[in-house]
Amino acid sequence: MLNLVKYNNNSRKIHIEGYSLLIVAHANELKNEQLEYLDGFIIDTASVSFTKDIIYQIRTNNNLDIALLPIFISAVHKFPKNVEIHTDGPVAIDLIGSYVQRIASIKKKINQLQIPQKTTHEEFLNYKVLAYSYTRNLVITPITSRQSIIGYEFPFISLLFKQHEILSLLKTFDKLTQEKLLSFTLEDLIHVCKSCTSNYINFRECCPKCDSIDIKAHDMVHHFVCAHVAPEKDFKVDDGLECPKCDKQLRHIGIDYDKPSTIYSCNTCNHEFQNSSMKGLCIDCSTEHELDELLEKTIGSYALTQKGENEVLKQSKTIEKSTSETIGNLSIPLFKILLKQEIQRIKTTNGSSFFVTINVQNKRLQLLNQDVKNELTKEIHNIIKSYLKDADMLASKSYDIHYLLLPETKEDQLKRLENIQYNLNKLLSDNMQQTTNEIAIQYQKITTEKALHEYLIL
Ligand SMILES: [Zn+2]
Ligand SMILES: [Zn+2]
Ligand SMILES: [Zn+2]
Repeated sequence: MLNLVKYNNNSRKIHIEGYSLLIVAHANELKNEQLEYLDGFIIDTASVSFTKDIIYQIRTNNNLDIALLPIFISAVHKFPKNVEIHTDGPVAIDLIGSYVQRIASIKKKINQLQIPQKTTHEEFLNYKVLAYSYTRNLVITPITSRQSIIGYEFPFISLLFKQHEILSLLKTFDKLTQEKLLSFTLEDLIHVCKSCTSNYINFRECCPKCDSIDIKAHDMVHHFVCAHVAPEKDFKVDDGLECPKCDKQLRHIGIDYDKPSTIYSCNTCNHEFQNSSMKGLCIDCSTEHELDELLEKTIGSYALTQKGENEVLKQSKTIEKSTSETIGNLSIPLFKILLKQEIQRIKTTNGSSFFVTINVQNKRLQLLNQDVKNELTKEIHNIIKSYLKDADMLASKSYDIHYLLLPETKEDQLKRLENIQYNLNKLLSDNMQQTTNEIAIQYQKITTEKALHEYLIL
C-alpha cells in the first residue's frame, strides 16, 4: 500500500491510495515540481528556518488550490508552536496510511471551492480566509507568539500579511464578522503602539508634573492618639516608628496606628502626589504613549458560518456573468438604461409600450446547484425568446426573475405572454414532479408617471 518512490531528480514522493505527497527538506525542491499535481507535503528537515521557508512558499502560492494543500511535518522533528500552527500537524512517515482520511477530506473540500477568477486583492484575501476555515473544518484560533508584532498568530492567515500590515489582518476579520461570514469569540484584548502597532509596550508609573519615572511610593501613617497623618518616613527612627507630633512610640499597627493610603514623591522635582500617571513605551519604535493613546484591539477566534460556507461554495460572479452573456440577453444595468430611454421616448411620442415581469415561483428550485440553475436559465430564455419580436428586450436578474421590454406594443398584442407562461409551466412540470402554475407573469403599460425603480424587483 505504501509506496516510497525515489526519482532521478532526487525528489521523494509517497503514493498512497491515489494520493501523491512530496517529501520536502528545502524550499528549492518545490521549484522543480508541478505542484498542481500533488496532494500534499511532508516536511522532513530539522531546520526551523528551512521549514518556515517551505511553509511560506506553499501557503502563499497564488494558486489557492496549492496554497491550501495539506502540509505535514515529520514527527521526528520538533518545531515551535508558531511554526507548527501553519501546518496540518506532525506525522510519522511510516504510518502515513492513517492520515489518508484527513488528506482525502481536505482535498475534497479544496475541489469544492469556487475560487473567484477576477476579483480585487482584498476580495481574494477575504475568500482565502473563508476557504482555509472551510477546508480545515475548524475554528480559526490564534496562539500567543513573540514572533508576531501583536503577540498573536493565526494559522495560515498570518502568513498572508506582512508585520506592518497586521492591522489589515484584524480588519479583515472584523469585516468578515460584520458580514456574518465568520462568527467571533473574544479571546483577548491587546493594546498596541499608535505608530508601529507593536504590542511590546513597557508600562511604568511616573510623576504627573515632570513625567520622571524616578518616583517613590511611601505609606501614609495615621497615629490614632494624636490624629497626626504623615508619610511613614517622617515617623522613622532607629529602632522603629515615633510620632513627630506627640513623640510617642508607634508599636502595633491596627492598635496604635494604621496606613490609610500611599503617597508618591518625585526624586526629580520633589513633587508629592497621591496618584501617579502611567505611560507606555513602545520597545520597537520608542514611541511614548499616554495610556489612552494606545490602540485597543480585540483578538478572537473565528468560525465559518453557514452564510460563510455558502460564500465559499457559490459560483463566482465572473462565471455567472459569462454564462448569461453567452445566452445573449441583456445585462440588468444595460436593460435599465434602455428602459429609462423608453420612458423618455413615451414622454415625447405618447406611444404604447409594455414592461413585463416573469417570475418563477417554485421554491424548491433554489436548492439546485448553480450549474443546473444556469442550464435552467438557458432553457427559460430559449422559450421566452421564441415569442419575442426583434425590438423586444429580455434581461434576467436571476434564474427566477426575468424582465421584458416590449416597445410599440398594443394591449391586444400581449397574447404571446400566455404562450410563454404555458410553455414555461410545461418546462417545469416536464422536469420536476408536482408543479402547477409556477410561472407568474405581470405586465404594465410604461407611463411617464412611474419612476424606473418602480418597475424592477431589485
Ligand atoms: Zn502622635
Ligand atoms: Zn517630578
Ligand atoms: Zn511602536
